Amino acid sequence: MPKSCTLCSTPRSILIRCQIDETQQWHFVGTGACWKPVSGGVEGARGLENEYPHYRYGGMWKDRSADGPVSAKKPRKVKERRKEEARRRVNADKEEEDRED
Ligand SMILES: [Zn+2]
Repeated sequence: MPKSCTLCSTPRSILIRCQIDETQQWHFVGTGACWKPVSGGVEGARGLENEYPHYRYGGMWKDRSADGPVSAKKPRKVKERRKEEARRRVNADKEEEDRED
């Protein structure tokens, strides 16, 4: 499920968790338009402490359901393909051994 940007209430699938003011409340801010004015567009506002004294980077929030079932299946497919390749390699080795005999 997407989460809403705490600044503009727009649902987003990727948000930046950060503190932006003296209340030290954690906000979930959409990347880009909302995040740049509060952080200077720099993760952790490195080197911009004077400009953004209250900004604190707390990580990235990602909507897992946004990836969908397609990419969720991918790792399994890759695993199966690797297994199949390994099986073929073993068979190839056997054939070579047979030839030597
Ligand atoms: Zn926003």
